[in-house]
Amino acid sequence: MTQPAATWNEGLWHMLFAVGHPDLIAKQKRFQAEGIPPRCRLCMAPFGKLPVEGWTDEHPGPSNRNPRFCSLCDHFIRANPGGAKVTMTMVFADVRGSTALSEELQLEEYVRRINAFYRRTTSVFVQTDGFMMDVIGDEVFALYPPGFSGVSNADSEVAEADLAAFRTATAARKALTAARRLVEIGKSRAPNDLPFGVSVHTGVVYIGTIQGAEEGISDVRIWGVEVNKAARMCAQANPGEALVSPELCAAADLDPAELPERLLTFKGISHPVSVRVLA
Ligand SMILES: [Zn+2]
Repeated sequence: MTQPAATWNEGLWHMLFAVGHPDLIAKQKRFQAEGIPPRCRLCMAPFGKLPVEGWTDEHPGPSNRNPRFCSLCDHFIRANPGGAKVTMTMVFADVRGSTALSEELQLEEYVRRINAFYRRTTSVFVQTDGFMMDVIGDEVFALYPPGFSGVSNADSEVAEADLAAFRTATAARKALTAARRLVEIGKSRAPNDLPFGVSVHTGVVYIGTIQGAEEGISDVRIWGVEVNKAARMCAQANPGEALVSPELCAAADLDPAELPERLLTFKGISHPVSVRVLA
């Protein structure tokens, strides 16, 4: 695997995720209104229904090398490797007690329940314009980059100079909505639904491409200490609650005093970290 060089196409990737690229936004708006999922992770082109006449540049089908992206976006990622540092909000949801459960249940039953958990959580991410939902073992997460999740109909009322900040706040509020809905789902779960905790955090993330060998897959990934922080917060959330970082409160304009405080201790960090609890 080749790691991206830090400065490759930085302006382009910053534009895509921090601000929003007008061409990509136009495509996303058009595609969101048509077809059925699954969709290209970048431009939202629908793959759920094959057009009779086959895929075209107007309606690109899934890339045969990487079906998470359409053929055009897959080509774009390959042609423009790189990435940028972008302040964005992340939402994590993580199954509690999964090790014990995987020993207790038949593997098929465990996988069935993980699939149900994945369906319930990702539908919330889709409804709130989350980007790049992904699963790592028994944990799912979504990103809310301003240039993607922060784009809204209210944009037209905002001055050009304030647009990036406006979209950052919009995206953070959508992520907070996702966390609240996940808490509701977690609280109303049926006996066979897996218990899970949630975290929502805003911080600087390096978002960029990762590419394998010549014919291998390409993908967009995130790196950074803030990603680890969000994951570690999630690991300390009780079932049916979301832990909210002070950075998210500031980004989403949420008064932290409205929520109870909890102090978390992280391995390797000497001072306790203060978070707020949504339950
Ligand atoms: Zn695409």
